[in-house]
Amino acid sequence: MKALSLQETGKLIYQIIDEPALLEPHEALVKVHRIGICGTDYHAYRGRQPFFSYPRILGHELGVEVLAIGNKVTNILPGDKCAVEPYLNCDKCQPCRNGRTNCCENLKVLGVHTDGGMTEFMKLPANKLYPSAQLSFEQLALVETLGIGCHAVNRSGITDADKVLVVGAGPIGLACLQFAKNKGAKVVMLDVNESRLAFAKNVMQADATVVVSVKSSEAIKAHFDGDMPTAIFDATGNPSSMMSAFELVAFGGKIIFVGLFQGDMTFFDPLFHRRELTILASRNALPEDFNYIIGLMEAGEINTNSWITHRIAFSDAADNFETLLKSGNELVKAIIVV
Ligand SMILES: [Zn+2]
Ligand SMILES: [Zn+2]
Repeated sequence: MKALSLQETGKLIYQIIDEPALLEPHEALVKVHRIGICGTDYHAYRGRQPFFSYPRILGHELGVEVLAIGNKVTNILPGDKCAVEPYLNCDKCQPCRNGRTNCCENLKVLGVHTDGGMTEFMKLPANKLYPSAQLSFEQLALVETLGIGCHAVNRSGITDADKVLVVGAGPIGLACLQFAKNKGAKVVMLDVNESRLAFAKNVMQADATVVVSVKSSEAIKAHFDGDMPTAIFDATGNPSSMMSAFELVAFGGKIIFVGLFQGDMTFFDPLFHRRELTILASRNALPEDFNYIIGLMEAGEINTNSWITHRIAFSDAADNFETLLKSGNELVKAIIVV
């Protein structure tokens, strides 16, 4: 079967690899139908993904069909359409034992630490598959994209009383916006890019948007009746953006860092203590986030159609990857159709 393999920085090639062999009792054989391309994939392609080794088959945002199941599998049946939780955890370490499988000490993310879904067929642990009779493969492929923002919002505990600022209007920030709105909070989006903000406002119904400037803080307050945001979700991974959150947040507020960077984060302790802030990291997503998202999508409360700005055939993906990377502002989400 054909797989799309990233051999080294900037070099994607089609490879013929063996079809998955015999299934273990808890595994399932699936056919991959849709693959979402995300920031991680672009970073790996450009050689900017930390702790990444080549060659690697990318792909962790997947809509798949179950073809066969091992003899101990009970949660899915052949023919089921599923979303995939790409976080392969060990089930043994302390966080796993405590139900924090998203930050397993030995975590392997499909398409990052182990070969992913840019292939025709693959074997997966059945408990990482989430079936839905109603959703399309395309919708199912977007569940993981939404999962990052969903987990951050669920983790924050915000309610409809919160005044939320989301910094960074890429797919992760948009997912934070989606779920914060879902909780009934008022949401302002902050970004440097006006066309991304236009998407957040016009398509995703952000309550207001603010372009980053020296006056951002006043503009944000104006949208919150003079108040500061009670919760800030930073989805930029930009150190200066992340550190400035300490000055933008309301007293008693929360900062949730969704984006990350490789380096030290520093803040002036009185900013933290006087405001009695809560700071949270958010990483990946949990099984309950996947179930929650699928429920909302099935109920029609989340519409992701407008997110998909580019669709490419699997056979054209290698040649088009570079072009996709350069499509800039027009690109929200690209999907590979297998
Ligand atoms: Zn992703
Ligand atoms: Zn573990």
